[in-house]
Amino acid sequence: MRSQFLVIVAFVPLALVAQGPFEPGVKPFLEVDAPVVALEHVRIIDGTGTPPLEDQTVVIDHGRVAALGRASEVPIPDGAQKLPLAGHTVIPGIVGMHEHLFYPSFSGIPLYIEHGFSFPRLYLASGVTTARTAGTLEAYTDLNIKKMIDAGKMPGPHMLICVGYLEGKGSFAPQMPDLTGPEDARRFVEYWAAEGAHSYKAYMHITRAELEAALAAAHARGLKITGHLCSIGFREAAAMGIDNLEHGIAVDTEFMSGKQPDVCPNGPTVDDLEKLDMNGEPVQQMIRDLVEHHVVVTSTLAVFEAAPPLQQRFVDALAPDALRNYLTGRDQLPDVVLRRSATRIRKELEFERAFVKAGGLLMAGCDPTGNGSAVAGFGDQRNIELLVSGGFTAVEAIHIATQNGAKFLGMDDRIGSIAVGRNADLVVLDGNPAARIADIEKVELVFKDGAGYDPAKLLDSIRGQVGFH
Ligand SMILES: [Zn+2]
Repeated sequence: MRSQFLVIVAFVPLALVAQGPFEPGVKPFLEVDAPVVALEHVRIIDGTGTPPLEDQTVVIDHGRVAALGRASEVPIPDGAQKLPLAGHTVIPGIVGMHEHLFYPSFSGIPLYIEHGFSFPRLYLASGVTTARTAGTLEAYTDLNIKKMIDAGKMPGPHMLICVGYLEGKGSFAPQMPDLTGPEDARRFVEYWAAEGAHSYKAYMHITRAELEAALAAAHARGLKITGHLCSIGFREAAAMGIDNLEHGIAVDTEFMSGKQPDVCPNGPTVDDLEKLDMNGEPVQQMIRDLVEHHVVVTSTLAVFEAAPPLQQRFVDALAPDALRNYLTGRDQLPDVVLRRSATRIRKELEFERAFVKAGGLLMAGCDPTGNGSAVAGFGDQRNIELLVSGGFTAVEAIHIATQNGAKFLGMDDRIGSIAVGRNADLVVLDGNPAARIADIEKVELVFKDGAGYDPAKLLDSIRGQVGFH
């Protein structure tokens, strides 16, 4: 009797015992909710890579940028909500190109926990207004979270669900598929296209035959494939027609001695990477190949950083058990791991600068995996800071993190830059990232489709939740 009772209780849906599981929607997180809003006396870094403009006013009208220019010249419509924002900088909403809705579990076998609750809020609170998931582990959950955000049931960025993983035999991750050949890869692509996939992620053990079949099926539907590859080198993938490569040269295996076709050689070591001359002919030839084939690269420096500065906001966001596990791991990091992390970032930045110099399109993303240091949204900001530490200007780094992603997505007429007619996806920063890149973290307001979200309220709502859900 007792167990029957428990079974019955356990199956009462949440909706019957509460006011509806997804209340209260987005309203409680809105700080600015007027149809017409004027952001007055702001500095604008417009995402195009051009120098900042001082003392500007931006008028938002029903979700679009309606006017923009010198504060003394832009007419403010009657009835507009005026926000005096001298000392603030407005940048386009970040277009996060290597996002995930999962986070490592820290112990046991390598499992990743779906973070459909806290991560969309973290992305939005950090200024990410468009997030492409570079791989899913619960594709249905990701697809449905996107629908819930679009329906206004919960706060979050515009989401583009890049379904993965197209993974071959030998994966370290038991949550991933185990493709049995090209036919299986084709079926995977076709199935998830029908379910609403935006694009696909290929992974470390995929074979050339499987990737070829997946590319043919995806491209036939007008969908793109990105890859975190290992079994296949960058030049091979470019020749096959891949659209995008994640992480950059830090994961490219083609320069390793003894690389066997279709075999992931345990990933390139930092020693291999250290030896690579980014201005030498082999790497330059690879870069030319990527540029010629219009293969876009996603910078994910934050996930390579083994021990970034420990921030209070990170501590506040993590669930107590997750934080304890994270800090224990962090305390035990051997010096050699820290040195390798620094070398990987330095060499990857050398590559990224060379790639951009050669005309390559570089985008950026967070990748909230690794050892857990890069949390959704915070990691996107950190990535921009690391780009600047490696020699990109703040304006260039912001361009990489906004307009370049929009361009690759074919959405640059709507998002990724600030101009009249564009979506009012805007981030208001308290400070000047062009002078001090850490100000990219001082998010005061995030406009998505013209609605202004309060990042503090979003962060309050996920306090102690990261690592949990
Ligand atoms: Zn990833």
